[in-house]
Amino acid sequence: MVSKPGSRNNSAPDLVDFGIFQLSSLAISDDLRQELKQIVTSKPYPLLIIGNEGAGKHTLANCLAASYLCAAVKSDGSACGSCPSCRMISATGSHLDLVTLDPGPSGKSKVDEVRSEVAARIFEAPRLSPNKVFIISAEKADTLSEACQNALLKPLEEHPAFVRFIIFCEDSDRLLPTIRSRVQMLRLAHRSDEDIRQILNEAGIEDPAAKSFALDCSDGRPGVALTLARDEKYRQIYDESLKLFKAFPRENRTAFLTGGLEFFKANKESTDLIIRLLQSFLRELSVALLADKREQVLTDSSAFSDAELAEWAKLAIDYEALLELLSETKRALSSNTNYDHTISRLLLQMRNGVNGVVPGT
Ligand SMILES: [Zn+2]
Repeated sequence: MVSKPGSRNNSAPDLVDFGIFQLSSLAISDDLRQELKQIVTSKPYPLLIIGNEGAGKHTLANCLAASYLCAAVKSDGSACGSCPSCRMISATGSHLDLVTLDPGPSGKSKVDEVRSEVAARIFEAPRLSPNKVFIISAEKADTLSEACQNALLKPLEEHPAFVRFIIFCEDSDRLLPTIRSRVQMLRLAHRSDEDIRQILNEAGIEDPAAKSFALDCSDGRPGVALTLARDEKYRQIYDESLKLFKAFPRENRTAFLTGGLEFFKANKESTDLIIRLLQSFLRELSVALLADKREQVLTDSSAFSDAELAEWAKLAIDYEALLELLSETKRALSSNTNYDHTISRLLLQMRNGVNGVVPGT
């Protein structure tokens, strides 16, 4: 899925960002595209979009809203781009017949707002479009309280034919069964590497390192991939993790262990990301070195120069064992082990492994 490069604050995506509103241009599976087309053209039920953080819920909600508002929807379900509604969206990034229940900075909607913005407004006839669209965020567990959900039940059940509801959440189990029984659910699966690549390309991300970083660490979630590729903070973590990785075989043992631990501690909340990066560097190396004789097969190995690859090729490294060591460390950290101790152990064992000492000794 796509958004205008640089147009959005990644940590808090706008509810309304109507830069591109063609379902046909979204980087999604054909099955999902087909389902969306059906939803737009023949299923006017309240829709619940479910997906992890960064899965593309907002983008999809906006795309669908644009299609619902369009006066001349194309056969593939996309908004036409030229009717008065589409022009209004293009020009203003909003629409007269679109209501978004925005929880604001607190992240929690108020029951009064559900009543005044949704329940009281469903009977207002649309002014420009054939439909009136309500986008409602139930993103996090507490975004839409039980009282708010209760206030939504009646509107979801009884509303004029021109009303379209789009609700989105990360975990549908946290919604009331009475809400779930009134909506059609659409789950956003994780996207393929190819889709993510396309999304990054369309967003104008050109730096190969940023691309492969985002691809490796986003778990197929477009929003996460875009954040990783664009956010300077993550870029720094990438650069420093790579520096740390390259220091494994080189640097003096004590300096390495101290510096490595300091780096981890300074970025403690991104530990998982750093470990994933180390894994992805290992994988990148092993693939690059396996594709020996430098055939063209090679990867977008952006992290290592040819000279560096030649140096690493001289080391007898058990890549599988080191990858397993990193996975083990991740598991250990998630079960409350002592952070400093676990990381120090990891650094030491990685360094031993890279220098040909069997991990675990
Ligand atoms: Zn249109």
